[in-house]
Amino acid sequence: MSDQLVVAGASVATTAFLERMRELGDSRPITVVEGDPDAPYDRPPLSKSFLLGGDIEDIAVDWTGLGANRVNGWATGTWPAGKVLSIRNDKGGERELEYGQLVIATGATPVRLAIEPADTLTLRSAEDARRLRARASAGQRVTIIGAGAIGVELASSLTMRGSHVVLLDRAPGPLERLLSGHLAADVTQWLTTAGVDCRWGAGIGAIQRLRTGWRVELADGTRLDSDVLLSAVGARPSVGWLAGTTLLTDGLLLADERGRVTNAGGVVPDHFAIGDAVSRRYPDGTTERSESWAAARLHGARLAEELCGALSEPGPRPYFWTEVAGRKVQVVGSLRPGMSLQVEFENPERGSVLYRASDGVAEAWIGVNAQPRIARLLMGA
Ligand SMILES: Cc1cc2nc3c(=O)[nH]c(=O)nc-3n(C[C@H](O)[C@H](O)[C@H](O)COP(=O)(O)OP(=O)(O)OC[C@H]3O[C@@H](n4cnc5c(N)ncnc54)[C@H](O)[C@@H]3O)c2cc1C
Repeated sequence: MSDQLVVAGASVATTAFLERMRELGDSRPITVVEGDPDAPYDRPPLSKSFLLGGDIEDIAVDWTGLGANRVNGWATGTWPAGKVLSIRNDKGGERELEYGQLVIATGATPVRLAIEPADTLTLRSAEDARRLRARASAGQRVTIIGAGAIGVELASSLTMRGSHVVLLDRAPGPLERLLSGHLAADVTQWLTTAGVDCRWGAGIGAIQRLRTGWRVELADGTRLDSDVLLSAVGARPSVGWLAGTTLLTDGLLLADERGRVTNAGGVVPDHFAIGDAVSRRYPDGTTERSESWAAARLHGARLAEELCGALSEPGPRPYFWTEVAGRKVQVVGSLRPGMSLQVEFENPERGSVLYRASDGVAEAWIGVNAQPRIARLLMGA
């Protein structure tokens, strides 16, 4: 049996994992299995700067010196008891890889609405972004379904590129999950001023392919015709390849706070999970899944500490950022819908505001173009 440390997915979390392993002086060889020929790269720019232009080199992550052996191909299954990973490459070639420890870091995959045709565009990979750049050229009409962070960023970037964008969501406002309903009017105004046609509370009745484009029919009968239809309604963990194994619990990949995969029998020895793929199970039985660059990096770094016996203090507060029509919106802590917002700092000349959100129990902060203030909060100052 092999004692090899194998990671599935050359992901954001994997980069932090490799960096921290080496920082901690662990020099064992690490094999990374990945099917995307562009990886490793950073995902946040895909809906921002990369969509406006640039090359894969601009977002590539440099693993030089991190001692990772790359195996090209997709992990298609694993047999945890025997510690064997099955891999298929894009030419259909199959192989098996024995491991001593396996880290699952396969991220997430865009979800699609049940009524959505399979060929609407989605955005997760660099190749998706290239496809989108090629299809949504200046002057074209683009309909985006879903006003979460990715939908809002796409609307901002494509409008900047000269597309006519309609952004719709069945929720009463944008960024509902990220901002818990706070600042919905501000975000709507920024988008509208930038030229985005925002439709909230917009249920979809039907989606139709036209001869040269798409028609989205809203529940109220409104018809929206476009050249390009983009779906940004969320993502689900990329764990389908683990179906049928003991690693999934009711379809979810669960891990404890130390990154160890757990199932009904407890901790599954030598199997770990980090990043968007995993749902964290806490001692009180609750589970939580994050989709954030900072959380993925934290998972990776803390798993390295776990494997090196160097687990540090609990990590920093949750953090997420997004960009809306040229503004950087950052969130520190966990926002809740009932919290009240107070302005803690404001500089109207620079358009920067820092809000403190509180409900008497917990607190969080929202910064709009307030990077130095947010940096101080993240450093605990
Ligand atoms: C367009 C976009 C914009 C974003 N913007 C922001 C932002 O502004 N702020 C923020 O905080 N977060 C943002 N995010 C979220 C953030 O990028 C993710 O939370 C983060 O990338 C998750 O990292 P990960 O390590 O879980 O996996 P990922 O970085 O998603 O990587 C997973 C890797 O696994 C590979 N893989 C999948 N299945 C297999 C398999 N079976 N075998 C082998 N390899 C496999 C994939 O090809 C991929 O390379 C954005 C995400 C996207 C898509």
